[in-house]
Amino acid sequence: MTRAPRPTLPRASARRRPAADPAPPDPALAGEPEPPHPPAKAPPRKRGPAKPLHGSAEAPRRARIMNLQQAGDFVRALAAANPAPETELHYTSPYTLLVAVALSAQATDVSVNKATATLFQEADNPAAMVALGEEGVGRHIRSIGLWKGKAKNVIALSRLLLERHGGEVPADRAALEALPGVGRKTANVVLNVAFGEEAMAVDTHIFRLGNRTGLAPGNTPREVEDGLMKRVPPELLRDAHHWLILHGRYVCKARMPECWHCVAIALCNYRDKVRVAPPR
Ligand code: SF4
Repeated sequence: MTRAPRPTLPRASARRRPAADPAPPDPALAGEPEPPHPPAKAPPRKRGPAKPLHGSAEAPRRARIMNLQQAGDFVRALAAANPAPETELHYTSPYTLLVAVALSAQATDVSVNKATATLFQEADNPAAMVALGEEGVGRHIRSIGLWKGKAKNVIALSRLLLERHGGEVPADRAALEALPGVGRKTANVVLNVAFGEEAMAVDTHIFRLGNRTGLAPGNTPREVEDGLMKRVPPELLRDAHHWLILHGRYVCKARMPECWHCVAIALCNYRDKVRVAPPR
């Protein structure tokens, strides 16, 4: 018996549900090929300014916090490399130190030293400074930032020292901070350098370093200061302020930390260490 041939079935593609009827062609376009659709363009992404990889003093990139042993070893490594650290500001007395530190806000130590070299020749005590007057002080410090306000403060604080403290710089935080132009940081420097107190003046370098390395992270200079006071070993507290400032100024720099010659690289928790010097 011979089988009847199977009926030919339409192919699968032909069995699909028919698409809706196309619209009748536009007579004006009849015979012209349809232009290709341009690829859909994604709207441009809005980007803010690129964040610096190594952070800044205002927004330092944070590292995992060091444990106490590591924090101590970190400061010990800096201490071993510079056993007798000193402030880079030139001064001859607590008074000239106070004036130099008050002038150093938003100015480099080098520029302050240039200005005070001639200023202190004319006036190195409160009475002479008051006699010199704002204009006279201004003549010497015009090359540093915010000089007008600073000249005013130097005269006002000198006058207050004469009125309240017999012309001497008080070794007392509250009395120092009551002087015009003297904040916590300036008071800490004077207490530490002039009077040998264990005080930690957190400037832009120490603030960055505390956060970047994990030594003492904090959102404000005061938080970093408190962290350092707790975490730096007591026997190193007196000089830690100098070690950290100098390290931040010359090695752990804001734009690019020079980790390739950092004595504390093995102890630092910063994730983006720059291990090789960039070509010059
Ligand atoms: S290793 Fe780099 S980031 Fe860490 S403290 Fe040293 S210089 Fe700064």
